[in-house]
Amino acid sequence: MSKHSVLELLIGGTSIRRLPTIGLPEPSSPLRYISTRARAPQLGFDDVLLSGLANDGGLYLPATWPQFSATEIASFAGLDYPALAARIMAPFVEGSVLAKDLEGLTRQAYAGFTHSAVAPLKQLAANDWLVELFHGPTLAFKDYALQAVGLMFDRVLKARGARITIVGATSGDTGSAAIEATKNKDAVDIFILHPEGRTSDVQRRQMTTVDAANVHNIAVRGTFDDCQDMVKAMFADEAFRNDIRLSAVNSINWARIMAQVVYYFWAGVHVGAPQRAVAFSVPTGNFGNVFAGFVAQRMGLPVAKFIVGSNSNDILTRYFETGAMTMSGVVPTLSPSMDIQVSSNFERLLFESMGRDGAAVSRLMDQFKQSNGYAVPEAAHREMLKHFAGQRLDDKGTTRVISEIYRETGELIDPHTAVGVYAGRHAGLDRGIPRLTLATAHPAKFPAAVEAATGIYPPLPQALTDLFDRKERFTTLNNDLSEVKAFVRQHARR
Ligand SMILES: *Cc1c(COP(=O)(O)O)cnc(C)c1O
Repeated sequence: MSKHSVLELLIGGTSIRRLPTIGLPEPSSPLRYISTRARAPQLGFDDVLLSGLANDGGLYLPATWPQFSATEIASFAGLDYPALAARIMAPFVEGSVLAKDLEGLTRQAYAGFTHSAVAPLKQLAANDWLVELFHGPTLAFKDYALQAVGLMFDRVLKARGARITIVGATSGDTGSAAIEATKNKDAVDIFILHPEGRTSDVQRRQMTTVDAANVHNIAVRGTFDDCQDMVKAMFADEAFRNDIRLSAVNSINWARIMAQVVYYFWAGVHVGAPQRAVAFSVPTGNFGNVFAGFVAQRMGLPVAKFIVGSNSNDILTRYFETGAMTMSGVVPTLSPSMDIQVSSNFERLLFESMGRDGAAVSRLMDQFKQSNGYAVPEAAHREMLKHFAGQRLDDKGTTRVISEIYRETGELIDPHTAVGVYAGRHAGLDRGIPRLTLATAHPAKFPAAVEAATGIYPPLPQALTDLFDRKERFTTLNNDLSEVKAFVRQHARR
């Protein structure tokens, strides 16, 4: 390269503006987001929100981690949940239209939650706590992110004068949480496919009894996999995707992770952080929830360990034990929201633990696709084990733990939470460290398992007692892609 061209590089582009200006602080520029596979364009928050997946197949992460000092974290203890949510999310949405009134948004998002603390802590034993994340409209932790993210979609789209169509497939929890988050939002139409006759009555009714013009439930004459295949095919059809402005709200969306970071700070400061370190036990499926905890740690929260709880679908436990990610079939369990084959958000941890080497992550993901397995490089695996440990519990153990907790404390816990409690208690943590288990679902969402373990049928909370009297609205369609596409085209308001 000639001297001339080097000089052009130095003065060209943006580098000239980054020369240090003595005595003046650097102008703060809004946070940019980068893909875990390094080949997608960097985006600002609003585009990351609307696009979900990066166009190189990777997942978006902020280019740098915002930091909170110990003094700032200590001051969080005085805030209520919506105020804390606005504080935690503010650095991530700088430069977005959302920045103007973020606390207004979080107040609205959590106003309908049925516990005034939003995410109350409950003590089970010495240094052993539950963080109850089931006081939202659909009784599972997904409401904590989706209620805020639904409002974010609506505000960003309105500011742009744009609209989107959300299409998703569900076997249970995600569909209802997404519907509750987007119902009556003018800028959004939502279509949720569920397999006819294969969801529980509570789960189906939580989706089909929502009375809103922009909500469309489709019962497909097929299986969950058929539903998911059709959604994938719709995303793969570029003309269709552009025509209806297709979007997704699945857990790979960065905005959902961001909103989940809040309750890690919330719970941590209420049991003594930042003066002492805490530990979290997280019933895990797609790895989105526990990764949000890792983000909180990156931002300054002192966390001694994250315990990743799995049911018999233990790909993650096996990974932490061996350093190798190897796929196997999925078996149905009492904790269906953790019945996963692959944890898509694990890619984010991989990226962080491999020194943010997107090309290397991309190669491992290609390998995974080809051979259903990959080995994490030794150094990255060791790095992960500093912060994470895995534990598994089968259905028999899950029933036993639900029953034990009931006898010890009088509390009814759901099967997912039971896996978390067990994992936290068996991870060999120092007894002096407060252990926080995320209670991810209300026991009434899984009444049969709770009744089998305790003899008590957990009643639905007040707001849902008439669920079985409400009118259901859904359209039954054949397991036929063109039929489903035609229905979506016809009902999406563009
Ligand atoms: C979705 C879900 C999980 C798994 O969370 P991930 O973020 O996918 O790891 C655990 N428990 C319940 C009740 C859920 O709905």
